[in-house]
Amino acid sequence: MSAQDRQPFVIANWKINMMPDQVAPYLDTVLPALTGEKEVEVGIAAQDLYLSQMLQAAKGTPLAIVGENSHWEDDGAFTGETSPKALAALGVEYVLIGHFERRKFFNETDETVNLKTLAALRNGLKPIVDLDEDLSVYGHLVPEKVILKQLQAALDGVTAAAMAQVTIAYEPTWAIGSGSAASADQAQEAAALIRQSLANLYNRDLANTIRILYGGSVTPKNAPAFLCQQDIDGILVGKAALDPRQFLTLVDQAK
Ligand code: PGA
Repeated sequence: MSAQDRQPFVIANWKINMMPDQVAPYLDTVLPALTGEKEVEVGIAAQDLYLSQMLQAAKGTPLAIVGENSHWEDDGAFTGETSPKALAALGVEYVLIGHFERRKFFNETDETVNLKTLAALRNGLKPIVDLDEDLSVYGHLVPEKVILKQLQAALDGVTAAAMAQVTIAYEPTWAIGSGSAASADQAQEAAALIRQSLANLYNRDLANTIRILYGGSVTPKNAPAFLCQQDIDGILVGKAALDPRQFLTLVDQAK
């Protein structure tokens, strides 16, 4: 399987940026443009508050709804957390696991990222596992080694069969929200390294089926350079995707 065979995936990550009265107008702009869309898979990650409304609006459309986080336990006494079991029961398809902001501000570690990945899979959610290449966590290691450590740790105990549900996102800490994206070459190098590591952990055929996304200050200006890289199968976009028309431009660029 080559890059051409992996369906491109473009995801907007709203974070906590959208107000309640902005959700419907955003979807009203995006959904009609996605009618019959088969070439690119399109997702929006939103805070839990809006997921029911979004699922309702997106019913019968190709838009995938993405949670921004879910816990490692299915249920129980974890005030303020999101149950992966409840997310799945609601109809949410994907969930971001281990986003840089979760690691940085909410003390998520490789261990919790792994537990959350396993919990998402156990409940039928498709995890989008974020690798943030945070050098400060590993001190002496070079960036390539950090990516591989994070990948290996996140996927500990994930079977080859379950890997079919997993997407990997390479989102270096220094590129997220900074306005300073990785270069396309840099991102391709990291994605190739991730794919090679997946081949080592599982096998080459399986590695070739896994989608690897780039995220971090993606804009319509730099997106085409990422999207044409051999090992980059899509983009995860924060700020530039807050404008629905700009998001649609990014989706078009992935075709
Ligand atoms: P950004 O965010 O596009 O604003 O850098 C990307 C992300 O956090 O996934």
